[in-house]
Amino acid sequence: MSQSHLLDRIVILGGGTAGWMAAAALGNVLQGTRTKVTLVESEEIGTVGVGEATIPPIISFNAMLGIDEDTFVRETNATFKLGIEFVDWLEKGHSYIHPFGDFGRDFDAIPFYQYWIHRALAGKKDDLFSYALMVEAAKAGKFMRPLTDRPQSALSGINYAFQFDAALYARFLRRFSEAKGVERIEGKVARGEQDGESGHVAALMLEDEQRIEGDFFIDCSGFRGLLIEQALATGYEDWREHLPCDRALAVPSESNGFPIPYTRATAREAGWQWRIPLQHRTGNGYVYCSEYLDDEKARETLLGNLDGKALAEPRLLRFMTGKRKRVWNGNVLALGLAAGFMEPLESTSIHLIQTSLARLLTHFPDKRFNPADIAAFNARTDREYERVRDFLVLHYTATRRDDTPFWRHCQTIARSPDLARRIAQFEASGRIYEETGDVFGTASWLAVMHGQGIEAKGANPLIAKLPIERIDSVIEQIGGTIRHAVESMPTHEDFIRKNCAAEGLPPP
Ligand code: FAD
Repeated sequence: MSQSHLLDRIVILGGGTAGWMAAAALGNVLQGTRTKVTLVESEEIGTVGVGEATIPPIISFNAMLGIDEDTFVRETNATFKLGIEFVDWLEKGHSYIHPFGDFGRDFDAIPFYQYWIHRALAGKKDDLFSYALMVEAAKAGKFMRPLTDRPQSALSGINYAFQFDAALYARFLRRFSEAKGVERIEGKVARGEQDGESGHVAALMLEDEQRIEGDFFIDCSGFRGLLIEQALATGYEDWREHLPCDRALAVPSESNGFPIPYTRATAREAGWQWRIPLQHRTGNGYVYCSEYLDDEKARETLLGNLDGKALAEPRLLRFMTGKRKRVWNGNVLALGLAAGFMEPLESTSIHLIQTSLARLLTHFPDKRFNPADIAAFNARTDREYERVRDFLVLHYTATRRDDTPFWRHCQTIARSPDLARRIAQFEASGRIYEETGDVFGTASWLAVMHGQGIEAKGANPLIAKLPIERIDSVIEQIGGTIRHAVESMPTHEDFIRKNCAAEGLPPP
């Protein structure tokens, strides 16, 4: 390929989580090449400042960058996350944990949960969640990394993510990126200047008259979408008919005891409240639908349901669930909140930044910006967003709550044909498959379907050939192995204090 087509300058607009993740990933792969990476951000505008819970693939993002995990945990005041507890989602007084990791252990090429369903249909129904190592470890406040060198051990199946301070994460990635040669420019962008012929963005025009030229722009300007929308008018798909929440109030509070290794999402009158425990404080927020609740009532509910003293005034954030019609348009790729937002219920936004970056590396452009590559990128992104949307919708529609207008409305939300098919298949035969574009695997779908009260009425008929006593004894043995494994794990507190305690962690 002719060198003249190679990108000379990539400009990232925005220094929130999306901007600095992009800078870190691109700085890392482009270090020492002719392609220069510049990030422009405005401290005056600031970042959205939330986004503190993640899902397990972030481990591979850190690994790709060569980041030492203990250093990362220490410097971002992070804790480990084994799953999400959903409180009052099915009905008031009910709760379950969606764990990161499998249920039981598959045998004879049939998934464990199929045996469990068969046994339950035969009259022996116990708690499916007690067969998930991450659920039991989370409830016991235990944590350790997986024993990857002992594949036969139940402890090899440990799977986790992090809960961290979003501002410290951006700072951490900034140090990393600058060390890789990324240039940072402080300034407020007034607009994107477009090339009259191609319509591509040619430069960022700053309020102080600086002009920053680039070949490729990554719009990480947050909800504003300064380039993707304000310059290119790409258009936005409004998904509020699927995901109706449109506001959040966020507030940090003092820790109450040592942080637990999971996030909690408690259903409230017109939405849900998050609780994300970090080493130095707890992050809280109420995500709600403004059609059913006013801001003052939401504020009262949030402040009335904190475990510790509030450390600031709650901050109001307005959003519209949905995504850009094309996240990559011409020479602009939108990333993070500029690309879309599906509300934080399953902590997917940071993950979607990561997968978009991975896709960018496989569809890396040159100055010709091949439309077929861009179309392929957009199609794959659309699929992924739709899969996540379906997974989130599942939580809202499969509820028995009818105690408020909001929850009654949730019961009427239409399920996409894909979601309806997946639920119908599970109900009929207890089968769940991972499908193209899925962010969440079968264990996650199982956890939420089962947790939300969807019951399977059948299981793989091959199982019926086995004597029920044999199934019983294997399942009980697996339960015993899990309990034993959890007992042998250190506490989350001991693990953190020994390996990665942050400066802000109060003494025992
Ligand atoms: P922002 O943080 O808004 O950053 C935008 C950047 O652009 C800033 O640096 C700003 O200064 C810059 N900028 C904007 N305009 C200009 C301009 N004119 N000139 C110069 N610079 C400019 N995600 C998760 O994965 N887990 C969670 O638990 C989670 N919780 C969330 C809770 C809520 C209520 C919300 C709203 C989001 C949550 N998210 C979560 C999403 C997560 O916060 C974002 O995906 C993530 O922070 C990325 O944001 P961003 O970088 O795209 O935007």
